[in-house]
Amino acid sequence: MEDVIIIGTGCAGYTAAIYTARANLKPLMLSGMQPGGQLTTTTEVENFPGHPEGIMGPELMNRMQKQAEKFGTRIQYEQVDIVEKQPDGTFLVKTASHDYSSKTVIIATGAAPRHLGLPNEKELIGRGLTSCATCDGAFYPDVPVAVIGGGDSACEEAGFLTRFASKVYLVHRRDELRASKIMADRALANPKITPIWNSTVTAYLTDEKGEMRAMKLQNLVTGEESETEVKCVFVAIGHVPNSSFLGDLVDLDENGYILQIPGRTATKTAGLFAAGDVADHFYRQAITAAGQGCAAALEAERYLSH
Ligand code: NAP
Repeated sequence: MEDVIIIGTGCAGYTAAIYTARANLKPLMLSGMQPGGQLTTTTEVENFPGHPEGIMGPELMNRMQKQAEKFGTRIQYEQVDIVEKQPDGTFLVKTASHDYSSKTVIIATGAAPRHLGLPNEKELIGRGLTSCATCDGAFYPDVPVAVIGGGDSACEEAGFLTRFASKVYLVHRRDELRASKIMADRALANPKITPIWNSTVTAYLTDEKGEMRAMKLQNLVTGEESETEVKCVFVAIGHVPNSSFLGDLVDLDENGYILQIPGRTATKTAGLFAAGDVADHFYRQAITAAGQGCAAALEAERYLSH
């Protein structure tokens, strides 16, 4: 029987692990599909306190992992399928290969990139459709590419892609970016980035090899349709929280985010805590996720000591 199982290895998960490990609870982490979370697919992180020169996202996550392991955290690279509450108040956490039992569970599973829901998306992933510029940008040198979205992620990805691509279209459904002013100004000042305002992508068009050839666009103000040739489309339109495996152990809001007890990381199920982007649609920052990971660890410790 474990004292604490932490599901997810992003900022929230590792911070919860550092705190529970230092409290001698020997946490077990189950890492899921994307070990290290969203920061492993970003470039430089300039706003995590303590790194005045900035730090690369994957490096920051490596350091968190080392810090968690240094105090006795164990990590298993397994995807959790289901969590169930047992009659004795403990939890059964099932993966494809193991059943684990634990007195408390911290959910820190983050959120996955959202897609537009166009018919051939699945076939195109890895063939000119992606949501990770850091991972795939270098595969598209000297060709036009597009980023969809108007937030900080879209601006960051577009800026990063200008290192490789001949031209980066930034397709946004409104005529004003949602991104913070500094990120928006930086993107719009970049001569390699061409914004396409008030527009949505209505189809991904492929070549004879089944790879991305162009995007079909619709101007949402005029209704006009057009085609723009691109070799890759990077989708940056936000995220969907990874909360569906929890069944009725938690209440979710209309977008699937876990509802915590106000001001806490506790959920409606005693002993089950939620931290980071799986529960936070408002701040969604690495540092706020880390803060919630700390809070969830402290709440789990208190729950165990009572
Ligand atoms: P976001 O802020 O939610 O922005 C999503 C963008 O996608 C919005 O511009 C939205 O348009 C657009 N969008 C959503 N659904 C769409 C759809 N179905 N079709 C077309 N466009 C759609 O998400 P994010 O950019 O991933 O950022 C998430 C959080 O991480 C934010 O808090 C952000 O500040 C933070 N972040 C920070 C940094 C940094 O500081 N270095 C970098 C990346 C992200 P509308 O604007 O019209 O709603």
